[in-house]
Formats: sequence, C-alpha cells, structure tokens
Amino acid sequence: MRQFARFKTQHPECVLFFRMGDFYEMFEEDAVLAHKTLGITLTQRTEGIPMAGVPHHAVEGYLRRMIEAGHRVAVCDQIQDASEAKGIVDRAVTRVLTPGTLVDEALLDEGRTNHVAALDLRGETGGGTLAVVELSTGTFRLRDLPADRLVDEVVRSGPSELLYAEPAGGGVPEVVESIRAAAGCALTSRPPWTFRPAEAGEALRSHFGVATLAGFGLDDEDPALAAAGAVLRYLQETQAPDDSAGRLGHLRPPRRDPAGRYVTIDATTLYNLEIERTMRSGTVAGSLLSIFGGCRTGMGRRRLREWLCFPLREPEAITARHDAVSALLADETCAVELSGHLAGVQDVARIVGRVSMRRATPRDLVALGRSIGTLPAVGRLLEDRPAFAAHAARLAAVAGPLASLAETIESRCVDDPPAHLREGGLFRDGVDAGLDEARTLRRDATGWLAGYQKQLIEHSGINSLKVGYNKVFGYYIEVTHAHADRVPDAFTRKQTLKNAERYITPELKTFEDKVTTAESVAIEREKVLFEQLCTAAASRAPEIAEFGDVTAELDVLACFADAARRYGYARPDLVDAPILDIRQGRHPVLDRTLGERFVPNDCSLGGHDESSTHPGAPSLALITGPNMAGKSTYIRQVALIVLLAHAGCFVPAEAARIGLTDRIFTRIGAADELHAGRSTFMVEMTETANILHHATDRSVVILDEIGRGTSTLDGLSLAWAITEALAARGSRTLFATHYHELTTLADDLEAVTNLHVSVREWGDQIIFVYRIVPGRTDRSYGIHVAKIAGVPGPTIDRAAQLLETLAVQTESPHVPGSPPPRAGQLSLFTEYIEHPVVNALRALDITSLSPLEAFDVLRKLREEAEERH
Ligand code: ADP
Ligand code: MG
Repeated sequence: MRQFARFKTQHPECVLFFRMGDFYEMFEEDAVLAHKTLGITLTQRTEGIPMAGVPHHAVEGYLRRMIEAGHRVAVCDQIQDASEAKGIVDRAVTRVLTPGTLVDEALLDEGRTNHVAALDLRGETGGGTLAVVELSTGTFRLRDLPADRLVDEVVRSGPSELLYAEPAGGGVPEVVESIRAAAGCALTSRPPWTFRPAEAGEALRSHFGVATLAGFGLDDEDPALAAAGAVLRYLQETQAPDDSAGRLGHLRPPRRDPAGRYVTIDATTLYNLEIERTMRSGTVAGSLLSIFGGCRTGMGRRRLREWLCFPLREPEAITARHDAVSALLADETCAVELSGHLAGVQDVARIVGRVSMRRATPRDLVALGRSIGTLPAVGRLLEDRPAFAAHAARLAAVAGPLASLAETIESRCVDDPPAHLREGGLFRDGVDAGLDEARTLRRDATGWLAGYQKQLIEHSGINSLKVGYNKVFGYYIEVTHAHADRVPDAFTRKQTLKNAERYITPELKTFEDKVTTAESVAIEREKVLFEQLCTAAASRAPEIAEFGDVTAELDVLACFADAARRYGYARPDLVDAPILDIRQGRHPVLDRTLGERFVPNDCSLGGHDESSTHPGAPSLALITGPNMAGKSTYIRQVALIVLLAHAGCFVPAEAARIGLTDRIFTRIGAADELHAGRSTFMVEMTETANILHHATDRSVVILDEIGRGTSTLDGLSLAWAITEALAARGSRTLFATHYHELTTLADDLEAVTNLHVSVREWGDQIIFVYRIVPGRTDRSYGIHVAKIAGVPGPTIDRAAQLLETLAVQTESPHVPGSPPPRAGQLSLFTEYIEHPVVNALRALDITSLSPLEAFDVLRKLREEAEERH
C-alpha cells in the first residue's frame, strides 16, 4: 500500500491500475470509480480499503472504457520478476493514458484521428492559437484562431482532449467550457507557465534539436509558440518522463496552416450537413462520410474525414485533386492496380508512432516492412502520369532509405510473426549467431530426449517408460504404477498421477536447465534484435510518415474516383465568380438510399458563367412548398455539392459550375433542440447573427425555416429583414420558408427569385414529385400532409372547415380604420391580426344595435374570448 500511495501521489489525476500478479487492482476512490465506470465488483481489503480488479489479459478493453468515460489512467506494472524479488516486487508507472494521447492499436479507432490540442487564449483580442497533435502518428499542426471563430475552429479540429492554462483564480474559462459542450472533449488544465512563449520556444528548440525555429517557418518570438510548447511539455511529462527525445522522436515539427487555406465551416454547419454523423441518431450511417466506402487503409479513412471537414479554398490545390480523380477515372486499370497496392499498406502512420513510443509488436514491424515494400510498385505506377507528378516525386524522395529498411525487415523477420515478442520466433535463422546457437540446442532437444528415453528403457527394462514435457512441471520420466517396483534408485519422484508416477533424474535436470536457459537466451537475443530493428525503423520516422501521408492522399483520391465511377458523379468546374449552376444535382446520401426514386434538381444562382454575373442575376432564392415536399433536401444537397467540390471530389450532378466559396453557412431549424441552456429561438438568432456578420459575396448560405421559434408576426418580420440583408450582400443563398408573404420580395428586389416545389393534386390527395420549379406557390397543403401523417379523419375535416372560414375572412385584407399600407407589402402583415373575436367586432354594425342586443353581443364575445384563452 505504501508503494501504491507513492505512485498515486505522483499521478494524482489518474486512476491507478496497479499490477498484482494476474490482475490490475485499483484501490480506494479509484476502486469506487472503476466499479461505477466498468461495472466491476467492489471488494474490500482486510484493512477495509475498497478494492476492484480486472484480469491482466483483458486490461486493454477496460482501459479503453475508462478513457472513453473521460478518465485518465496510469498503468503501474511489475518491472521485476516476482521470483527474483526480495520482499516487494519493483513496480513503475509504464504508461499514462489520457483521452488525447493514445497510441495502442487496441485503444484507437482505425478510422478516426485522436488528437490532443492545447488552446492558448490571447486575452486582449479574444482570439488565440490551437496546437493540435496526433500522438499516434506524430502530426503537429498550428492553427490561428480569430476571436469570432475560435469555438468553431476548435470543434472542427475535433480534439479528444483540450489543454488550457489554468486561470489565476482557478476554474475553467468560459470559452473552454463552451468548446467542451460543443466538442465533447476532455479538459486538462495545465500550469500557466507551460504556455509562456519563452518557455515554449525553449522546449521546442531543445526537442527538435535546433537553434532556431525559423526552419519550420516559425518566428522564435511568435506568440503561436505558446500553444505548441504547452502541448509538447504535456506529452513529455505524460508519455516520456525518462527519455523524451527517443520516445517522441516521431513527433514532426509543428506546421502552421496558412490563414484562408480552408473553406470556413462552423460547428453548426458541420452538424447540420451531417458530414460525420447524422443529426438524429448521431451515427456514421446516413452521414456524408458513410457514402465513401472505398478507402483501403485506416490512414485514408482518417484523411477522408479531414478533407470533408476542411475543404480547400485554393483553386490550384482543388484542381490538382480533381485532376487526379479524373486521371483515375479515365484509366480504370491504373485505378484497380493502385487500389490493389493500397490494400497491401498497413497503418504505417500509426506503426511508426508505436515504434518510436516503444510500443510496437513483432507484427507491427513485419507489417511496416511489407507496407513500405509496396512503394516501388506504386512509384512505377504513378510515374509519367502528370496528375500524380507531385505524389510520384514525394515517393521518389523517400524511396531509397525506405527500400533498405524494407529489405532489412524482410530479410530478418519471418513472414508470419508471433503476436508477442515473448513467444519468440520473430527472427529468421541465420540472422544472429547467438540466436541460432540457442535455437539449435532447443531443436536438438527432441533428438536427445528420444535417445535418452531409449537408453532408460534398455537400462530399466520398462518398455512403457516415457520421457515427456509439461509447461508447469517441466521435463519428467513417466512410469505406470504397474512397473513401480522396477524404477531405478536414481529416479526422484516429482508428481503422482492416477495411474502413473513421474520422476526426474540429475541428467534430465541438467538437460532441462540447459534447454530453459537456451530458451531464455533465445528470447533475450530476440529482444535485443527487435530493439535494434525498432531503432532503425524509428530513425526513418520522417520518411515513413511521408510515405503514410502520400498513401493516405492516394487512398482518398482513389476513393473519390471510385465514388465518381460508381455513382455517376461529374467533375465540377470551379470558377472565380459568385455563381452556382448545378444541373440535375442530387443529394449525395439520399441518392444512395433512394436510388432511381431520387428526383434530381437544378440550381442556378448568380448566373451561368462569369460573363453573365451581371448585377441583375438573382443570388437569393426563396423556396416555398408543402411540408415533406423536399425543400430541406434540396437546399442541403446544394450545400453538400459545394462542399464536395471544394474537398476535391466530383459531385452528384450532371454538370456543375461552382464559384469559389469562402464559407458555407447553414441555419436549419431544429424545433426541439435545446443546447447550452438557450432557447430554440435564441440559438436560431445567434446563428443568424453569425451569418449576417460574416457572410460575404463569396459565401454560400442555406436557411431552413428561420423565424419559427417566435410569434408568426415577429418571425415573418425577421425573415423578411434577413432576406433583404442577404440579398444586398450578394451571398448565394437558398432560403426554404413557410412564409409565403416573403415571395413578394422578388417583385421588388432583383437579387431575389422564387422557387417552389411542385406537387400534383389527385382528387383530394396530393402527390409529391420533388421537382423544384420557378415561381411562388400560395398553398401549403398542410392539411393534406397532416392526413398522410395519420391525423384522424374528424380532426382533418374540422381543420378543412376552419381553413375555409379563415380563408374567406382574410380575403378582405383592407380593414377600415387601420393605417394605410406602406409600400404595398406591409399590408400583408395585417392579415395576421386574426382572432374570431376581433373579426366579429369588425363585422359588427353598431348603429343598428339596440342597447340590449349590444349587451348580448358583448357577453357572447366575452365568453368566446375566455373559451379561447
Ligand atoms: P421539406 O423540407 O419540404 O419538409 P424534406 O426535404 O425534409 O421536405 O423531404 C422529405 C422527404 O421527401 C425526404 O426525407 C425524402 O424521403 C423525400 N425527398 C426529398 N427530396 C426528394 C427528391 N428530390 N427525390 C425523392 N425523394 C425526395
Ligand atoms: Mg424541411
């Protein structure tokens, strides 16, 4: 317990998994926590200390659950053979696991990146810097965050764990708290000094062994260093307290993302467009990501997510991706061959991390060798293909060193390696003289034992005598009870079985010792050789990482080409003008699930080509139509097509001309969504405010039913004003709305046009045809839709009846005595002052009423008013 207490003091924030024999035990409050989190039994030690344990062979699963629940774990192992220990076995903390620093295969999702990020807030401006590290692969990125996008950009980076400088007064800074709420990441507070730029610069220079960071494109005085240094310190402390340089050797120098490299997508839009997971169920199935099943490697799957969440803004970079997809599409043989090679590449990006962190297995090493062995073939396939010139050049640059590493691994290791080094058998014969000698002894054992058995039989005359081996008892001579009297005196009894006795002799004992020694000598030799090979591989970390990067990119490009071929996508034409012209566009996800039944639609905003972007071309379309007609689908499909085009993918359409876009905004009504304690309406208006503050003439905006969270009149007024503002801005905007009154805006504003979803009427039924057509609609078919939804017949009939009455009443819009309508359109609002009592009052001819009748009317009206209240 004293030993436990010592480690616990060293790692106070961690749950301590304390190895005791075949179990990892937890004590005291850790045990209670583990009991709650893992559902394992809580027991008591004699001293009344709570205790809970998990079997060592299943520990990875429990570790994973502990981390997923947001806890940190320190694993304390026995670092001494129990039989050699005098008194208590030596133990040490061998791993500290935090949500953002996992490297073991069993703890990670192959298709998801696992980031730890440090956020440095710059007090005065409200902005900051984010340093993002993926420890498993060694990538290290710096992102500058303007104040107004800080939360969104951190959420988009998707860290599992966020480090922040603990404020002087303790507690969690408000913006960090909102990040946690939006991203669901674990928070780790750090001493503020680790964020000091001077300390940070020093930590970085010493880690990367450079005198200045200028070579990495960073100024030594750069305030962005604070975040980078903070994350590095953290990794050094938790992952490599003993020899930081070696273990974190695969960490690449920080790379700064230039401002304006990516299309800005806020967290709401990522969520609304269902890029990574669906809004309703939160599953990957049904998301944009889910339609791309074609990646061959985990590296590709992770890169795909990144490309979809970070679409590009630089036309050259986007075009390069489109060119590559085109090339693969044009040459199917090449595409198939490339996929074949990619399928042979394991997750080298993560293997190199494990190799550096000293957590690699024999299988990792063999997989690494085999994977980098595919490089020459991939290089040959890509050479002389202009679309892949950059990839081919990058591969060529690392080909030399990797070929020799592949050769070394291949020639030394067997093809089918053991899962654990302790099982032995990773290295081939002939690799190492010491190993060979030890192995020969062990192999010869079989021959020796046969000879020895024969000799004993001859000597004792017991024909059934056997010499055997068993894991627990070692070598033995077995004689059945029937021959017990003929056993020579030199035999020492070892074990009694039901019908036989087992013995040992000094000779056999000597032999056993020799074999056992040979075995451990062999294992020890293999360990040394393995270490050497890991060191050799680790020294090639930058080249391996580069190979991994190129592979990941090729994998995503091949996946894009595959989708384009299979689903009939078209290459988008990117132009430098605020236009959007999509022919027969489809929603990428519904297109997959509905197939033939999906109805494609056009979209044209801002003209067809650069020359026609005269000021008169509408940039904003209002879309009206009944519920369930396909409005939301249509506007999302347009946003997704714009996003896919910028990610470098082809798009689900017959043709698409897409103007370069700086931001994609969405505001999608989620009537029942309450987050961060704000009301729906507040959320809606906050998001709208964000759009109005930042949308430019190069932005794409989709608005779905805004203004619904408040009274009709308020909502309509807001929607009206927002439409006017966006129309003036020139942002390409699609606005699906229930407010038919808005459609009159198109009469006055050149930038506004009306679209509606057509439906066919069939008797008293309506049929959805999902076709977007120009012009407005004046019917919402709400009652029809309610009927389809199963609202009972009598209620439908009553509603139809009411609708008729109300419709008649609203047909005389001008109410005598009301202020004269201003500019024509505003009179529309007066229709909304609707109440039967008010209407009755309006209809009343006071001059013809007797006092008694007047009283009667008054009483009735009052009753009605009360009833309706
Ligand atoms: P709205 O926003 O007008 O209420 P949605 O866009 O939510 O309607 O669409 C309702 C449903 O109609 C979708 O879930 C889908 O099943 C179907 N749908 C929408 N658009 C299409 C289309 N273009 N082709 C075929 N079915 C569609
Ligand atoms: Mg809708």
